Amino acid sequence: MPEARYIIIHGHFYQPPRESPWTGLISQESGAAPFPNWNERILSECYTANAHAHTMEGPVVHIRNNYESVNFDVGPTLAQWLANHGQAAYRAMLRGDALSRDRLGGHGNAIAQSYNHSILPLLAPRDRDLQIGWGIADYEYRFGRRPLGMWLPECAVDHETLASVAAAGIKFVILGPQQGQYQGDRADTRAAGPFLWSNGTAKLAVFRFDREMSSTISFGEGLHDGARLAEWMAATARALPEGASLMFATDGETFGHHKKTGAAELARALILLQRRDDIVLTNCEQYLADHGTSGKFLIDAPSSWSCPHGVERWRSECGCRHEAGTRQGWRTPLRAAMEFVNNHADAVYDRFAPALVKDHRGAVRASIRLLIDADPATHEQWFTRFGVAGEVSRERLLRLFEMVRAGQSTLTSCAWFFDDFGGPEGRVALRWAARAVELAAEHTPSIETELLARLREIRSNRHEVGDAATLYLSLKTREARGRV
Ligand SMILES: [Zn+2]
Repeated sequence: MPEARYIIIHGHFYQPPRESPWTGLISQESGAAPFPNWNERILSECYTANAHAHTMEGPVVHIRNNYESVNFDVGPTLAQWLANHGQAAYRAMLRGDALSRDRLGGHGNAIAQSYNHSILPLLAPRDRDLQIGWGIADYEYRFGRRPLGMWLPECAVDHETLASVAAAGIKFVILGPQQGQYQGDRADTRAAGPFLWSNGTAKLAVFRFDREMSSTISFGEGLHDGARLAEWMAATARALPEGASLMFATDGETFGHHKKTGAAELARALILLQRRDDIVLTNCEQYLADHGTSGKFLIDAPSSWSCPHGVERWRSECGCRHEAGTRQGWRTPLRAAMEFVNNHADAVYDRFAPALVKDHRGAVRASIRLLIDADPATHEQWFTRFGVAGEVSRERLLRLFEMVRAGQSTLTSCAWFFDDFGGPEGRVALRWAARAVELAAEHTPSIETELLARLREIRSNRHEVGDAATLYLSLKTREARGRV
């Protein structure tokens, strides 16, 4: 009997952090009606829908937790919002990982994501390490185990990023077929590999997703009928060498938000695939444990899954989104302005934290736990571990951590993704910049005047938005009004 072929379906669940840095609340977003904001709408259409997807088979109704059957990552900032506002979906994700581990010999479905969805190759090395370290700490807190895999925002990678991820103890990542050179017996097939990347000392397994089929699911009609999808996936997998795997990767929101019946049709496809004996539906951890790597992955330039110009989409007018009839000359100065804020936050931290905590770099790497876990026992233990005594010192240090996190949040990739910064995603960056500037000004003269001078030069494509300084000030005023 021939060895089965394997199928891995990966969902990248993520939304930009729309909540106010001051109140944690999301303002009314009219486009999301009848829901008060996009997070609530996507929660209902996708995150919760996948927690108990209903699908009919004749008179039988199946109710499935899709997170039990797909490989997935959930962005840490979204996970935090879900923990507070989408408990059913959040618990289904945690249970999905736990149950898949029970079923697949300890190999779970959930992988980590670096913390703020920033483009890792564009970060300074220490910020990149912080993003990766925070992503791991966030995952450990939620899923109760060390992550083996990590989703890299927009699949953006270069040699240094892969080295940092490997150095942090991650074993595998997921990339697209055009992101480098894949070599070996299976490189010319549609097999996922995984392929081995190494810099001589560190190594990582690279799973390659099938771009054509993934795009048909994300943007075409691949999800209209789960039965046809299962048949198509199985037929494609059967054409691979024995024992090989086929991988699909898409935004998790495809399953129910971008595609209205996506959660139900995904559930139907999963049921049908799991019944077959020529196909094994599995996850990355299990496939890697059982099969190891085959072939090599080489990378010579930065690349991503959503910009054919490398990682330029997040810092220059590369041509992505020109089709909208707009210009993106704002990208470079906006990036510089947000880096200015983030670098300032880093500098203020380096200057004032050492008086409060001895290992101030180690402390900031471990700080994310304090910002996501409100348990007083955790805080007590943490401060004791780092030798921080006294309420005043602890409070001051916490605010410095909050400032560093606000600085990091200004580089959230979504702000540069679309044709203009005047949409909800650009506002995310500006809001966090205002918060970082405000927190830094508790220690040093404010940089706001210089920031505003920079922002005033950045013009929106939209008349009603004007320049980035006007938008920054209006957001700040509005948010301040909402402050408790
Ligand atoms: Zn581009």
